[in-house]
Amino acid sequence: MPKKISYSFEFFPPSSPEGIKNSKDTRQQLSAFKPEFYSVTFGAGGSTRDLTLETVLEIKQEGFNAVPHISGISSTKAEIKTLLDLYQQHNIKHLVVLRGDVPHGAVSRGEFKHANELVSFIRQETNDYFHIEVGAYPEYHPEAVSSQTDIQNFKNKVDAGANSAITQFFFNADAYFRFMDECLIADINIPIVPGVMPIYNIKQLARFASNCGAEIPRWLRIKLESYGDDLLSLRSYGVDVVSELCETLIEWDVPSLHFYTLNQAGIITRIIQNIEGT
Ligand code: FAD
Repeated sequence: MPKKISYSFEFFPPSSPEGIKNSKDTRQQLSAFKPEFYSVTFGAGGSTRDLTLETVLEIKQEGFNAVPHISGISSTKAEIKTLLDLYQQHNIKHLVVLRGDVPHGAVSRGEFKHANELVSFIRQETNDYFHIEVGAYPEYHPEAVSSQTDIQNFKNKVDAGANSAITQFFFNADAYFRFMDECLIADINIPIVPGVMPIYNIKQLARFASNCGAEIPRWLRIKLESYGDDLLSLRSYGVDVVSELCETLIEWDVPSLHFYTLNQAGIITRIIQNIEGT
C-alpha cells in the first residue's frame, strides 16, 4: 500500500488571457490531488508584484489555498510593508520568502541583502501572522562559499523565524538525505520539503539547472540528449526517473512534495499516479 503524502504546486503568474486560462485549467486538474496550497512566484526585483497578487487572489477565489512568493532584492522596506499589508487585508497567511536573484547592472539592490533579513522584517512587522517558508539548497546555493556557511546561512533564516522550507530541485536523492543530516547536526528542525522538477525538455532543464546550481547527473543528461527531438519519449523517460525519485523520498518519510509545475498538469499527473499506484 503506497504511503499517503501531501503535495503543493508552484505556478508563475501568467500575463496573457490564454496563459491565465491555461493555469486555471492546470489548477483544476491538479486539484484532484487535494494540494495543501498553490504557490505563485515573484518576478526578479518585484517585476511581477501586481501579477503575483492578481494570481493569488484568483486562486483564492477558486477556493484553494494561495501562497505568494515574495523576494527582498531591489525592494525597500516601505514597498515590502505595503505588500504585507495587502496580503493581510486579503487574509493571506502563508508566504514563501526569498532573497531573489541579484540583478545585473546598475540596478539598486534595495534594503534586503539576504533572505534572513526579509524574514526578520516580516516577523518584526507582523509577528506570527504569516507561516513563512524559505528556500533550501541540498546541492548548495550557487553562491555558497562553503557547505558550512551555506548551512549556517540557512540556519539564520530559521532563527529569524522561518517555519518550514522548500528545496531547490535535485535529481540525486542522496544530496537531500545528506543535507538533512547536516541540518540535524546544525540543530535545524523545521520541515524541509523537497522541490520536484518534472522533465519537459533538456534545453530548458539545463538552463534552469545552470542558473540555480542544481546538478543534472551525467547518466541522465546523456540519456535525455539521446532522445533528440523525440519529446514524447524524453518525457516518458523523465516521468519514470522523477517518479522513482519521489518514491525514494516518500520511503524516507519526507513531509510533503512541492512540484514546480511551469503551469502544466499533464506530466505531474502521470508522476503522482505512478507514486500513488493509481
Ligand atoms: P538567501 O537565503 O539569502 O541565500 C542566498 C545566498 O547568500 C546563499 O549562498 C547563502 O549562503 C548566502 N547568504 C545568506 N545570508 C548571507 C549573509 N548574511 N552573508 C553572506 N552570505 C549570505 N526567485 C525569485 O526571484 N522569485 C521566486 O518566486 C522564487 N521562488 C523560489 C522558490 C524556491 C522554493 C526556491 C528554492 C528558490 C526560489 N527563487 C525565487 C530563487 C531564489 O530567489 C534564488 O535561489 C536566490 O539566489 C536565493 O534566494 P534565497 O532566499 O535562498 O537567498
